[in-house]
Amino acid sequence: MENETRTAIRHYIGRLCAPRRAARVLTYAAMSYPHFFCDFMLEREDSTAISHRPGPYGGLTIAGICGRMFPSQSSDLKEFQEALQILDDKRSLMSRILEFYTGKDWQPRVHAELTLLEALHDNGCKFFNDDKYIACSKPACFCCYHYICNHPGAFTRPPCHNKVYPNWQPPALAKSTGEVGALRQRDIMLRLTQEVRNAVMRKVLDTHKSMRWHPDSSTGITSLIAKEAAPGGPNDILTMPESSGTVSPQLLATSSSGEESEDGGVALD
Ligand SMILES: [Zn+2]
Repeated sequence: MENETRTAIRHYIGRLCAPRRAARVLTYAAMSYPHFFCDFMLEREDSTAISHRPGPYGGLTIAGICGRMFPSQSSDLKEFQEALQILDDKRSLMSRILEFYTGKDWQPRVHAELTLLEALHDNGCKFFNDDKYIACSKPACFCCYHYICNHPGAFTRPPCHNKVYPNWQPPALAKSTGEVGALRQRDIMLRLTQEVRNAVMRKVLDTHKSMRWHPDSSTGITSLIAKEAAPGGPNDILTMPESSGTVSPQLLATSSSGEESEDGGVALD
C-alpha cells in the first residue's frame, strides 16, 4: 500500500474516533474540575458573514506578484521571479491561480478559533487561572496561529500545523470596537501578511537554489576534499546535493495540490 494511502486511511480513522476521544476528555475534565459543570451556560457565537471573494487584481502576472512581494531594489526579486516562471512553465502556475479565484465553489471562511478569540476579547471575558488558551479540535493553521500571536489580547500560542488556506478570512469585529478595532486588526493583518510572504519566499527560493546545475558525479574527488574547500571556492559546487536539474517535487506538489489536504490547505514547512 502506498505511504500516502496508508496516511490517508490513518487520518480518516482518527477523525472517526474524534467524537469518542472528545467524550473521554470531557468526562475526565468533569471529574477533575466538577465546579465547571455546575451552574454553567453554553453560548453559541455565530460565525462572521462570508465576505465577497477577492478577485484576481487586474492583470495578475508573475511580475505583478513579485512586485507586490519585494521592494524593487531587492536582490531576491530576480531569483524569485525566475523560480515562479519555472513553476508556471512546468505546472501552469498562473492559470491554476486564476482558476482558483474564479472557481464557483470557492468562498472565504473564518476559522472557529478566531471567531471565539474576537468575541472573548471584545467582551472582556475572564479566563480560569488567567490561562488565555482557546481550545480547538485541531492545531491552528498558519494564518490563525500568526493572527493569535500578533493579537494584543496576549492569548496563549496554540499548536500549529503550518498549512495555509487560500480562502482564509479574518474575523469581522463587533461594530462597538469602531476605529480602534479596525486599526488593531489592520496591524495584525500587516504582520500576518509579512509572515506568509516570508514563508513563501523561503520555500520558493530554497527550492530554486537546489535546482541550479551541478555535476552529477564527484569524478573521484572525495567528499572530504569538498568539505575542506573554502566556501565559494572552485570546489564548493561539489557540496551541492546529488539530485537536481528539475523542479523539487515538494515545490511542484505545493503548486499542484500534492500537498493540499482534503480541506484545501497547503503546507508551508
Ligand atoms: Zn485557521
